[in-house]
Amino acid sequence: MALAVALVPWPASWVEFGYSERIYLSIQHALTSWSNACPFAVTDALLLVLVAGLVTTGVWMIRDRREVGTLQAMWRLVVRVLPVLSVVYLVFIGFWGLNYRREPLRTRLDFSRQRVTPVSARAMAEQVLSRVNALYHAARGGAAAQWDALPTVLGPAFGRVQRQLAAVDPAVPGVPKRSVLTLYLERAGVSGVTNPFALEVVVDQSLLPFERAFVAAHEWAHLAGYADESEANFVGWLTCLQGPPAAEYSGDLVLLLHLLGAVTPAERTALVQTLEKGPRDDVRAMGRREARIWPLLQRPAWWLYDRYLLANHVEQGVRSYGAALELFLGTRYASGWVPQHATGRSGAGAS
Ligand SMILES: [Zn+2]
Repeated sequence: MALAVALVPWPASWVEFGYSERIYLSIQHALTSWSNACPFAVTDALLLVLVAGLVTTGVWMIRDRREVGTLQAMWRLVVRVLPVLSVVYLVFIGFWGLNYRREPLRTRLDFSRQRVTPVSARAMAEQVLSRVNALYHAARGGAAAQWDALPTVLGPAFGRVQRQLAAVDPAVPGVPKRSVLTLYLERAGVSGVTNPFALEVVVDQSLLPFERAFVAAHEWAHLAGYADESEANFVGWLTCLQGPPAAEYSGDLVLLLHLLGAVTPAERTALVQTLEKGPRDDVRAMGRREARIWPLLQRPAWWLYDRYLLANHVEQGVRSYGAALELFLGTRYASGWVPQHATGRSGAGAS
């Protein structure tokens, strides 16, 4: 069954309307509400099960080798482990993984690659930069929300954006949790992960206060079934831009850094000079935080994630993060950053 599920090409439209917008979201409502209510990270419990499984398998392997020799012991290992891995894979696909095969968001939106030009990137960079300057003090007015408070503060914008993108009963925002995995994330330079088995969000809690909103919104986009990284960034940006000022600042700052990477070096220098002291200090603080990352841990983490994405038919691997900017620049918006749909493809209550 696992092989069949992995190899059979599922029509994207079936996955979109049958799974991603219906069955998956029902699973998400139940599972994330449950993991939100759990006082500990379900991810940690699952890691414990994994460690126990590995230890048991090792012990069995040693015992079998003594009893029946290496070759027979290897065979027994395969017979025992293969069904377990198959079930784990089927659970992964059923709980979340099938979202990798839904329709690309750009086919449903009023998206055109022709809007993505050096001129539009610079114009957007100027616009976002002036917003960052203007929002800095408003964003600092009230302290940035704590991780636990984000579902209340940013959740309404998250629900709104989901309904603008598709006619769905929106996904529940996950409480960003701390897990033993956090110790690793902080050093590997991974801001957050979504656990596909518990539909739970685990984050690097050492992130700076103004970084929290965008990281949470990005992981929530995964919870909403947007598995693709560029789509998760896109949904994350829209959620922040439609959220309160502190969240808007958080999303704009990340968007600005992406845009500065897309303009010419001369334009970048000119733009950065117009960045005021407050946001400039924030960017520097982000740089200092990133300097704490251990490269030895960072490289394998991203290498592994790249393999994982390729295995899930995401042809671009981790480069799909860059495609986010293309999606953002190529989409048409109504006022208030409401994404517009391709003509003849409504299906969404843009409210
Ligand atoms: Zn992601």
